Amino acid sequence: MSNLKKKNVLVTGGTKGIGKSIVKELKKKYKVYYTGRTNRKVKNYYQLDLSDQNSVDSFIKKTKKLNFDILINNAGINNIKYFSDYKATEIEEMFNVNLINLALITKALLNNMIKKKWGRIVNISSIWGVNPCKKRTIYSMTKSALISFSKSLAIEYGRYNINTNSISPGFIMTDLTRKSLSSSQLKYLKKKVPLKRLGSSKEIAEIVLFLCSEKNYIHGTNIVADGGFLSGYEI
Ligand code: NAP
Repeated sequence: MSNLKKKNVLVTGGTKGIGKSIVKELKKKYKVYYTGRTNRKVKNYYQLDLSDQNSVDSFIKKTKKLNFDILINNAGINNIKYFSDYKATEIEEMFNVNLINLALITKALLNNMIKKKWGRIVNISSIWGVNPCKKRTIYSMTKSALISFSKSLAIEYGRYNINTNSISPGFIMTDLTRKSLSSSQLKYLKKKVPLKRLGSSKEIAEIVLFLCSEKNYIHGTNIVADGGFLSGYEI
């Protein structure tokens, strides 16, 4: 077993979409554990619902001895509506899943990385964390805070050789995208993206794998992977 194979990785929300591809890609080099909300009897799988405080607390207790070296904060939700239509509980849920409980899990795992003087943290943000979008106010708030969280960790823990970065994917074909955008919106967006196509989960997973390399000078950065969508306008 190589040294890298001895490193333990945690991918939150690894059951489908981008997370599933990250699990597949990272398995090539590391020992990968992943989470989902349902109770499944599968190897290296843990139940974790980031909207539920008890679930978060018991997950942290259960996995403490695994001493994760790499953390991929991928799980995220998007509830799309006008700001004035959100109930307080819906706002709270999005903040808990996309930001607050993600930060608590990061805090719990960080101690081991500090002790070992090596770690990698990759936070999956969004293009809407860079530029907001209509009906995504709460999502954009959580995702831009996540970029800021990554940069803050980079400043505080770089001295322990803990690389922290975030990725802002554009339009990636997953369940979340199918739920968030109609087929006519997707058709329109394909024309608007300079590369004239949506991205794949594998393309995001490959960036994650790269950011987790043994030595990596990319630190405290947000990588936008959006086929050029945020770059400007074609007129
Ligand atoms: P997805 O297909 O909906 O998958 C979401 C994953 O998160 C699943 O594994 C799901 O697990 C888990 N999850 C959902 N709610 C959760 C909760 N309350 N607690 C814990 N885990 C939960 O989403 P995706 O499109 O792959 O998105 C992954 C990440 O990329 C998200 O953070 C999203 O904001 C970000 N992103 C996606 C796109 C895109 O175009 N798809 C673009 C920009 C950013 P179970 O269903 O098994 O419980």
